[in-house]
Amino acid sequence: SAEREVLTWEMFGTAGRALAQEIADDGYRPDLILSIARGGLFVAGSLGYALDVKNLHVMNVEFYTGVNERLDLPVMLPPVPNAVDLSGARVLVADDVADTGATLKLVRDFCADHVADVRCAVIYEKPHSEVKCEYVWRHTDRWINFPWSTLPPVVEGEDQVLDA
Ligand code: 5GP
Repeated sequence: SAEREVLTWEMFGTAGRALAQEIADDGYRPDLILSIARGGLFVAGSLGYALDVKNLHVMNVEFYTGVNERLDLPVMLPPVPNAVDLSGARVLVADDVADTGATLKLVRDFCADHVADVRCAVIYEKPHSEVKCEYVWRHTDRWINFPWSTLPPVVEGEDQVLDA
């Protein structure tokens, strides 16, 4: 569909609570939440409060367009989480969306070598994602507008358009 999926700030609040409830009902009690910057930071913050988990970590993953290869590859940017911090932990990976799933596959594989258990929570999962997340608020095949990235960055001296 050409139409977009629009997540408002208010719906984001609802989604965070619903995701946390899914996780709690499943009996999963993570030792730490690993957020994928930047979109995953919002989800991780929301889940951190709702699940009463204070141990939050961040991982920076970006897509890299290969020079020789025409494929898009996600790459981890430093600093990479310390393997000692993850060792033996029950980890909850938090991100905004699993689209191709390549980002979450990279993070999940990175964790798998060190942790006791790793599970993924996302607000949205698309049908073609190569990673099937354990906890998903909604499924969609549309392009999603997230409230934190819908507006362009602010420009110095510009009047704020509050209702855009
Ligand atoms: P992946 O394809 O690895 O699952 O997704 C990588 C990243 O691309 C996501 O974390 C997100 O930042 C961005 N992305 C993928 N699909 C969408 C979408 O529908 N809307 C927005 N705003 N970003 C997306």
